[in-house]
Order: sequence, then structure tokens, then C-alpha cells
Amino acid sequence: MLVSATEMLNKAVAGKYAVGQFNINNLEWTKAILQTAEECKSPVILGVSEGAGKYMTGFKTVAAMVSAMIEDLGITVPVALHLDHGSYDGCMKCIEAGFSSVMFDGSHYPIDENIAKTKELVDICHSKGLSIEAEVGSIGGEEDGVVGAGEIADPNECKMIADLGVDFLAAGIGNIHGKYPANWKGLDFDALGKTKNLIGDLPLVLHGGTGIPADMIKTAISLGVAKINVNTECQLYFQAATRKYIEEGKDLEGKGFDPRKLLAPGCAAIKEIVKEKMELFGSVNKA
Ligand SMILES: [Zn+2]
Repeated sequence: MLVSATEMLNKAVAGKYAVGQFNINNLEWTKAILQTAEECKSPVILGVSEGAGKYMTGFKTVAAMVSAMIEDLGITVPVALHLDHGSYDGCMKCIEAGFSSVMFDGSHYPIDENIAKTKELVDICHSKGLSIEAEVGSIGGEEDGVVGAGEIADPNECKMIADLGVDFLAAGIGNIHGKYPANWKGLDFDALGKTKNLIGDLPLVLHGGTGIPADMIKTAISLGVAKINVNTECQLYFQAATRKYIEEGKDLEGKGFDPRKLLAPGCAAIKEIVKEKMELFGSVNKA
């Protein structure tokens, strides 16, 4: 069933594991992730960026599809439907559309404005039973066409945003979206530890989970990271499997052109990487 992400993430902090947020793009993506979560008996967060929401024709379509799919597939593990890097207006639309969680990304505003807007959305979300994530320190990589290095969030600013009553917090610690460059310096565990000391048991979120080495993921979880976002990696697995199918000429054999056959290897590849991540994050059998 569709639930807010608060309870699953508080449990993750207590149990020292992390719940994966896997972004969805269409029906196939959603189905593959939900089936894997059920098979692994893992809680799961389905992430939807504003761009992906638009691509899928709107947030209402997404919420209706996910709710219906949970029912049709007989999914019993906790599932949160979460807006990823939402604007203020995007958050309002998702609240109305039936999402169970939103992220308000006010990291590009001056801290005072980030605080004011976050506070307003915290009150609205909580009055309607949704969970809300906020961000301090912009995550590097490509966001809206601009490629930036990962900022290190100021632990004191993290504490200010945490005190507004957000349910979980994304704090930049040098992590970036997309593929990591060869000269990447790694995660700043010193900053993560300082933030953790100030905010206590509030779950921390690690964006840009694609390509962070397993040992760094484990250290981050030990320091309070309870939600890890994975997007690019599913795309790369889907792409590689689809390319292989075409290059091997399978689309030209029999009814290999049938979209249900053409997309099947990509979907199987998404299931494989999602399972691998759930095992790494420690969320298997935690539903
Ligand atoms: Zn992100």
C-alpha cells in the first residue's frame, strides 16, 4: 500500500540500513521496481522528478498508475510515492494528486528563503499525512542542464532546516547526480558526522547513489544515511540490455518486434540492479 516514507525511514535509522529511492519513468520501470521490492520483502520509495512526471502526462496519472499497480500486483511491502527535487508548485500539485511524500528542493534559494518555504510546506504535508524531504547544499552533477560540483552542506544550516520538522534531510556531502568523474574526491564523512551529531536521529538522504563505491555507501549508512537515491544506474542497465537485444538481432527474429519482448531484457536488468542495491543497502526482509 501507498504510505508516507516517515515510518520506513525511522525504522531504517534504528536498524542501521537504508531504503532505496528508485526513480520511475514509465509503466515498465514502476512494475520492475515494485516486483523486486515484493520479492525482496523490502520497503521502497518510488521517485518521480518533475520532468518524469510531465513525461508520464502528469502527477495524477502517475499516482493513479502506482496505486492501481500496487493493488493489481498484490504488493504488500510499504511503498512511498515521492516527488524528487520538487519546486514549491510541484510539491503542491503532488500533494493534490495523491503522492504520499515530496521533496522540496530549496537549496538554490538563500537559506532564509529556503527555511520560509520549507516551513510552509512542512505544515501542509503533515496536515495531509505526507512526509517531506528538504535539501541543504546543492547536489552536484546535472540539474536542469547545469553541471556543478557537489557542495558540502553547512551542518548548522542542516540543523536549522531539520528543526522545521522535515521528516528526512538531504545534505550535500560531495555527492553528485549522474556518473561520477574520474577525479571525484569521494564523500565528506567528516561533514556527515558533524551534521549527524547536530540533528540526532533524523534520517539523512544520500542523492546520486549511482557509482558510489560499496564501502562508502556502508560508511554513510553507519553515519545516519537511511535513504539512498538511485536513478542513473537503472537507466544504464536498461540501456545496455536493450542495446544487446537489438545488436544480437533479436528484434528481427519472429515476433521480436513486439514491445513486450523488446522491452523485456531492459526490465529484467532493472530488476537485477534494484535487487543488488537493496542487498547493499540492507533493506531486504525489512518490510
Ligand atoms: Zn537528487
